[in-house]
Amino acid sequence: MLPCPQCHRQTKVIDSRESGDRLRRRRVCELGHRFTTYERIEEDYIMIKQVIIMRTDLNMRKGKMIAQGAHASMKVFFDRVEYLDDRPMMSVTGQMREWMEGIFTKICLQVSSEAELLEIKAKAESMSLPVALIEDCGLTEFKGVKTITCLAIGPDDSEKIDEVTGHLKLL
Ligand SMILES: [Zn+2]
Repeated sequence: MLPCPQCHRQTKVIDSRESGDRLRRRRVCELGHRFTTYERIEEDYIMIKQVIIMRTDLNMRKGKMIAQGAHASMKVFFDRVEYLDDRPMMSVTGQMREWMEGIFTKICLQVSSEAELLEIKAKAESMSLPVALIEDCGLTEFKGVKTITCLAIGPDDSEKIDEVTGHLKLL
């Protein structure tokens, strides 16, 4: 409840109208003081998501891709863990917390080269989006050669991530 600026008593809305992306509200308190507020109209649901971008030029098995994507998704968080007297402490952004307390939205996208993947990573980093790049050690595949397989971006605001990955095809 918004208190009256003059007497700090309870107020009620007596008129409400939209102006642009603001809501103009006339309010009155129990003593009859009137004032106007302009409130941002909140979207019901600002979507938070994480995207996983997988290289398709490596012809990985489905199981391999799932494992690599899972590494990427988790690495975003593991990179934020610090140990304080052997107790893990993870510092997360507000968006990360919301994502963890929600439905863990993940979108899987594809690129066809390492260069394209690294370009997207650089752009995401320049926008301060959280990223995690996965380099497979090559023990079981890729003939022993260390290979960059995928990238996770987010969790963060969907619209912000779309600026970086909106042009990519779904995997
Ligand atoms: Zn008042």
